[in-house]
Amino acid sequence: MEKRLNKVVSWIQEKDYDMAFISSTENVFYLTNFYTNPHERLLGLFVFQNADPILVCPSMEVGQARDAGWAFEIIGYEDHENPWEFIQGSLHKRDLSTVKHIAVEKELLSYARAEELMKLYPDAALVAAEEKLNQLRVVKDEAEIEILKRAAALADYGVEVGVAALKEGVTEMDVLAKIEYELKRKGIREMSFSTMVLFGEKAGEAHGNPGLRKLKEGDFVLFDLGVVLDGYCSDITRTVVYKSVNEKQKHIYETVQRAQQAALDASKAGTRIGDLDLIARNLIKKEGYGEFFPHRLGHGLGISVHEFPSMSQANNDLLQEGMVYTIEPGVYIPEVGGVRIEDDVVITKDGYETLTKYPKELQVIS
Ligand code: MN
Ligand code: MN
Repeated sequence: MEKRLNKVVSWIQEKDYDMAFISSTENVFYLTNFYTNPHERLLGLFVFQNADPILVCPSMEVGQARDAGWAFEIIGYEDHENPWEFIQGSLHKRDLSTVKHIAVEKELLSYARAEELMKLYPDAALVAAEEKLNQLRVVKDEAEIEILKRAAALADYGVEVGVAALKEGVTEMDVLAKIEYELKRKGIREMSFSTMVLFGEKAGEAHGNPGLRKLKEGDFVLFDLGVVLDGYCSDITRTVVYKSVNEKQKHIYETVQRAQQAALDASKAGTRIGDLDLIARNLIKKEGYGEFFPHRLGHGLGISVHEFPSMSQANNDLLQEGMVYTIEPGVYIPEVGGVRIEDDVVITKDGYETLTKYPKELQVIS
């Protein structure tokens, strides 16, 4: 953990910024190993060029931060107290008389909190910390990949449970509840996003909402789910058909599967990221479904379920060993149905490995 923190210290030294103030749950976790959801309360990490960092958190969580291994100063505060007063006291004990640049998460820091910082240092400019944090987080180390693999195995299990729960007349919510119940029994407290179970024409929306639609013969069934395990997310999509399948459904499924495989085959260090999207997209276009693939190929995956790299055709960055992302092409035909197949992928020395392993051959469930 200190290695990661040191990289931020080196970066602010290099840029000659006076400090960084990091306040998102995800980045604080990445840099401190302390994972907490503070709700509206202030959580923050001050990092300096030449002084020990300071963590700010509610006092009821100080013990958890210590348990997570944080050995430096902690400013704890209770709900009736104003943490910014304590922060001011603590910062003024340090030699920080002329502060010109404070790196912050511009995308995430609220304007109210930016104002608090500007009150402390009226002459300072707030500069973006994202460039560095995103660059650090985009390449995963071995320990992170190990957790992501275990998270992916639980996502596989979620699909297995969902497929086993399919029978005439069950609703999308029946199946969804069964999946989450079984995952909770395995110790999972949180899904990485709202689980999706969509039947028939409902699978024809890329981001449909599960409800009380009942399963019937000939339906596509789309599962999209993932878990949070030890602070890291998984994300899998599988589509099956119930009882019988027609030629059109087969063609859609095979097209999506081939597009997904083509993007997997192109996954290796040095490949332009945007090319993966184009490879899958061109294949889908050629089969006549170009207009029915309305989203990018995928997204980076880690502490956040959507992070860098963005797997969009416009991304000119190159794949690097240790990057983890999803490949999830889909074809959605309104009022008919849709297919998406999604795997979590890590770039290895020689190519790639899929973290999610649930089978992808078209399954007709009876
Ligand atoms: Mn997904
Ligand atoms: Mn996804």
